[in-house]
Amino acid sequence: MPSLELIIEATVVMVALMLLSIKAGFVDPGGLISSFIIGYTIYIFGGRLFFIPLLIFYVIAGLITKVRYEEKRLKGAAEEKFGARGWRNVLANGGVAAAIVYIAAYAHSVPKPELLAAYLGAVSTAYADTLATEIGLLYPGEPRLITSMKSVSAGTPGGVSPYGTAAQLLSAFTIVPVTVLFLPTGDKITAFLSLLIIVLVSSFLGSTFDSLIGATVQAVYRCKVCGKTTEKRIHCNVETQRLKGIKYVDNSVVNLTATIVGAALAYALVHFGVISFEII
Ligand SMILES: [Zn+2]
Repeated sequence: MPSLELIIEATVVMVALMLLSIKAGFVDPGGLISSFIIGYTIYIFGGRLFFIPLLIFYVIAGLITKVRYEEKRLKGAAEEKFGARGWRNVLANGGVAAAIVYIAAYAHSVPKPELLAAYLGAVSTAYADTLATEIGLLYPGEPRLITSMKSVSAGTPGGVSPYGTAAQLLSAFTIVPVTVLFLPTGDKITAFLSLLIIVLVSSFLGSTFDSLIGATVQAVYRCKVCGKTTEKRIHCNVETQRLKGIKYVDNSVVNLTATIVGAALAYALVHFGVISFEII
């Protein structure tokens, strides 16, 4: 059972974070409710160790979505509503991570290293993918499709760019050092190096999987007004036309699947003894 102190702490932090989210416009009303539920339960069931990586993802991704928003909007590839994320986006990015925390909390009083690894794999995949998209949109040239390497317009699912790939890799360096600070282990150096490898490998491969599915299976639309290729069903305030891909496979479905892949990879790395670290 979580202690009363932890519940009070989680309540205070989450209320403050949600007020900040409203002020900064990180989420819309649906996104606010879903991120509160996910964040609050992860804090209570997983404690600071599990909450901190999520907090980093949420705040940094929220801020970077706002960076040069107007420029991204002009490219026709910005998130709508000034970058405020909806509940589908929140659930797609945090749902798998939350499920892992509930499993970890149910099964053990101290989480097993493979479950912490799986959790970080899920969170860091979503984080790497979000940063790759938002920073990739700032790339001055045209992105290339990950499968054919042909130039595509910004915002095309499966499009990759040097900025995006760099962001995908650098995201691990923001999430791991802070997480290690909250890891109750005596050997922080080993834990840091192990977690860095786990997060780098799982988030890079997880978000690359995201791009591959984006380029092949995800529904791609064309705007009838501006002619741009997009993953959105509404563009320039008009319903778009489907070019290819499976109708029900949208960005949220792809994100959710990618976080499962990231989590499974990270779990496997620890479970099969490729990399090890201790929590206590
Ligand atoms: Zn358009």
